[in-house]
Amino acid sequence: MRYRSTRDATTFVPISQAIAAGLAPDGGLYVPESLPTIDPAAFDPHGRLADTAATLLAPFFAGDALADALPAICAEAFTFDAPLRALPAHPHSLLLELFHGPTSAFKDFGARFLAACLRRMPRQDQRPLTILVATSGDTGAAVAAAFHRQPGLRVVILYPDGRVSPRQAHQLGCFGDNVQALRVAGRFDDCQRMVKAALNDEALQADVPLSSANSISLGRLLPQMSYYAHAALGWWREHGTPLNFIVPTGNLGNAMACLWVRAMGLPVGEVELACNANATLPDYFAGADYAPREAVATIANAMDVGAPSNFERLRWTFPDEARLRQLLHARSVDDATIRQTIGRHAREHDEVVCPHTATAMHRLDQLRSAGNRLPWAVVATAHPAKFDSVVEPLIDRPVTLPAVLATMLGRSASAQVLAAEEQALRAWLLR
Ligand SMILES: *Cc1c(COP(=O)(O)O)cnc(C)c1O
Repeated sequence: MRYRSTRDATTFVPISQAIAAGLAPDGGLYVPESLPTIDPAAFDPHGRLADTAATLLAPFFAGDALADALPAICAEAFTFDAPLRALPAHPHSLLLELFHGPTSAFKDFGARFLAACLRRMPRQDQRPLTILVATSGDTGAAVAAAFHRQPGLRVVILYPDGRVSPRQAHQLGCFGDNVQALRVAGRFDDCQRMVKAALNDEALQADVPLSSANSISLGRLLPQMSYYAHAALGWWREHGTPLNFIVPTGNLGNAMACLWVRAMGLPVGEVELACNANATLPDYFAGADYAPREAVATIANAMDVGAPSNFERLRWTFPDEARLRQLLHARSVDDATIRQTIGRHAREHDEVVCPHTATAMHRLDQLRSAGNRLPWAVVATAHPAKFDSVVEPLIDRPVTLPAVLATMLGRSASAQVLAAEEQALRAWLLR
């Protein structure tokens, strides 16, 4: 399988190169030459998530230097499960729990797979490679955990000071060793702009070799397909019907993975995007022109995205706009509704969800009220304990901490202050 930029159909690179680069040189996003299809019978019905991943991703790595290592990469990345759990409220309502990894959010799957790929790639340069990450919360911690103490690699995280949850901030600052957290006096967009400027700065790169780990990397997108395939295949074997998904959405990376699984011919039914007050996608799917805009801050902060970075990939996947609008729906949920949803599900069903997951839970409530009886899986993108400052006042009790999170919160944390200026990051990296 060969890969090209969404903006150039004439130049092709192998998957290793696309993963190492992240973004294509022309500013486009890497996509496969064509999406492969796969027979559900190709999967081992008794396989674990790592086995499903290795079978699913094999066609994407065919012919590449990493192809032989793919099963080992999957075994290393997928060391925890993504359980599909029935919700008590309705027999065909399910929760796909993606928060059982080391940093309690779904970003762990992609970050760990990317790290497992990068550490197998030969580098000519003997100097350490610095991985720059701009994060609105969960990505930075997942990348830090995945690359912590990896020889030859260093992680520098930029996050907007005061705009991530206190526990997210603690997670970002608690690794140490080869991981450094910088709290930027600005917004997420500032962090992203500073990282982009550094990556495009050739003079800086000559002194400090840099790479990135943002959500447009195929090394993060492809592994995210695995849990959708695993859940849908399991459901289909047992019930003989496709499984439908509601995906909390920001940059569209998680939902894109779900749509690619469906496009490969696996038993995924309808896909709904649940967004917070950032309504770029809901407006587009309601018929407006695509209009990226500045993000607004919400209590589902990891979805505070005004210009979803995977939109170009979505358009490549579905070139016919009218058809795309038929195939996919997106809805915006405001903070007040997120709060109500968290409170109500805790009271009525003893089910506590994070603010991101609550956007999808609300959509499920709407579908059920309208009489929809399809099997729906709400995608739970993070553990509610990461957002205790939002969740606990709504449910009047503490959220039990997952063991990994308790361990991290027990370590000391520190982050350096940085001005929201490109020059400040440059100087910091060269110091
Ligand atoms: C990143 C994130 C999202 C949004 O995922 P995208 O791939 O950017 O659409 C949703 N929920 C949580 C908890 C996240 O960390």
